[in-house]
Amino acid sequence: MSNDTDRDVIVRARNVSKRHGTVEAIADMTLHVRSGEVVALLGPSGCGKSTFLASIAGLVRIDRGSIDLGDRPVSGPGLHVAPQDRRVGLVFQDHALFPHKTVADNVGFGLHAMGRADRRSRVGQMLELVQLTDKGHRYPHELSGGESQRVALARALAPAPDVLLLDEPFASLDPTLRSEVREEVRSLLRSVGTAAVMVSHDISDALALGDRLAILRAGRIVQTDAPDAIHRRPVDEHVARIFGPVTALAVTGTEGAPVTVLGPVAPASVLRWATGPVALARPHTVDVSNHRCRDGSGAAGTVRDRQFVGHGFRLVIALDDGVEVIADVASDAPHDIGGRVVVRNRAALPPAAG
Ligand code: ADP
Ligand code: MG
Repeated sequence: MSNDTDRDVIVRARNVSKRHGTVEAIADMTLHVRSGEVVALLGPSGCGKSTFLASIAGLVRIDRGSIDLGDRPVSGPGLHVAPQDRRVGLVFQDHALFPHKTVADNVGFGLHAMGRADRRSRVGQMLELVQLTDKGHRYPHELSGGESQRVALARALAPAPDVLLLDEPFASLDPTLRSEVREEVRSLLRSVGTAAVMVSHDISDALALGDRLAILRAGRIVQTDAPDAIHRRPVDEHVARIFGPVTALAVTGTEGAPVTVLGPVAPASVLRWATGPVALARPHTVDVSNHRCRDGSGAAGTVRDRQFVGHGFRLVIALDDGVEVIADVASDAPHDIGGRVVVRNRAALPPAAG
């Protein structure tokens, strides 16, 4: 990649490693964040997300690797710039507002270098940004969860940081509020245009905010790309499953004419996993019918399970050769459990068969 000369890069972490005692929290993590970009780090609890974010913030001293913020090296061999000198904004899961300070004083907390009048005007600007102009005099316990989150964001953004770091920012919100606040934060980040790194264990959080995703597993980044690119070409089955049910169909045949149990597939749709070449079938790309197509494509099987999922039914189909596929069908075309069906995979069909 030519990132090393890219002047647009706001965060440049190279081969960052950190141990906590004998635990290797993160290993060899490399990530670039460009100006105005939001990168979402996604991974299960304990995989090293917070450690990586804290390394960028300077709250953690890294063991190996280096971190630059803009053109300033901030972490590296013999170097550790203090958090308050990094021009980063932090937002945590619990919002961590000062309970004895008003909303306005919370937002103004990082602005001690400013004069009184400038500070007041900046606080006003920030409150307007998060639509809390009329709540500046309130105390944190007088706010809803969503409002607290907006105050935390306003406080982090007030000193105009170069990059905003958000650690599980929606984790403490109840599910209904969560998607609402997520949409607010999404549009706020877009309007401010500040580069940001958000970490979460939740795919919906990551998809809502991330221009790019970095998938973490056991302290390592296993894939970094645009969300749709990761969805289309996941590097392994674990990553493929992040987006929901999927069947990885073994690919046989020649390189120019690959086939799966569901018939011919487009060469471009074949993924070369360490476990062997596969083509993916997802519930919404699997066609289910009662009879074979005229071209004879598709594979026969039996419906083993059926579940109503809102927009239709989700079927588990056992193909006659033993492979199980999952298919979503419209609710006006339900196939009964035990019924015989023919299955095709629309996503991976070669152009001629499409
Ligand atoms: P995540 O945020 O993805 O849940 P963390 O970065 O918090 O993961 O933790 C990564 C690993 O490092 C975990 O095994 C965790 O127990 C360990 N860890 C994190 N912080 C410390 C610490 N201060 N002392 C010891 N172990 C830690
Ligand atoms: Mg964490």
